[in-house]
Amino acid sequence: MMRSRCGFTVNAIFVTHWHADHFLGIFGLVQTMSFNGRTEPLTIYGPDGIHEFTGILKTVARFNLKFPLESVELAAGSWVRFDGYTVTAFAVSHGMPALGYVLEEDPRPGRFNREEAIALGVPPGPLFGRLQRGETIRLGAGESAREIRPEQVMGSARPGRKIVYTGDTRAIHDRIRDIARDADLLIHDATYDESEAERGAEFYHATARQAGEAATVLNARTLVLIHTSSRYPDAQAHISDAKSAFAGPVLAPDDRDMVEIPYRD
Ligand SMILES: [Zn+2]
Ligand SMILES: [Zn+2]
Repeated sequence: MMRSRCGFTVNAIFVTHWHADHFLGIFGLVQTMSFNGRTEPLTIYGPDGIHEFTGILKTVARFNLKFPLESVELAAGSWVRFDGYTVTAFAVSHGMPALGYVLEEDPRPGRFNREEAIALGVPPGPLFGRLQRGETIRLGAGESAREIRPEQVMGSARPGRKIVYTGDTRAIHDRIRDIARDADLLIHDATYDESEAERGAEFYHATARQAGEAATVLNARTLVLIHTSSRYPDAQAHISDAKSAFAGPVLAPDDRDMVEIPYRD
């Protein structure tokens, strides 16, 4: 986070499961936040075990912690509202309580049809803004008075973007079909390539090909392979395995790579 210069203005952390590679960094992060004089509360969300974890975090941080640290336990189907988006948890298969997360933006209002508004006799100006904010307006007076409703000049709502993050898991796409469908970005466990496919099931991880199958079944737009095992010198085999099952773009990003997620329209 320091190298990416994104700052530490994080207000919520979502933990997927209690393997050290997925939570140890929080100790240093919280210590740094405290050292930087943070006073805003921080909430850590996670599966069964989250309250014990946060208790340990507070004990270890001792007198250094200068801001409120809260914990919230989530289960499959739990959701948390934020300003403009919702995070929903789903169960994955990792041999312990483990969650994946869907981040879904609220739908955006439909497009304002300026030509239609003018054709209906609405003069360009403040009345346009009122219609765009969902207000019904009145034109004229007396006998000729009439109403223009926002739905006459606004298109239908447009979907926001959707990110699905599986965390560590075996292949689970059939059981997350409903919650994870149509993801703009599917970030999927791809620990193994096909040469070690049998290890995936045994160690509760997915192969890159299974991640590709998930992207196809879930109608994802872009697939991101993560958690590739350090035994592989690079992710080339993973990418071609995933592409054998998914026709869309496949990425295997490094730390701090940026991925732009355009709106569907
Ligand atoms: Zn794990
Ligand atoms: Zn892991």
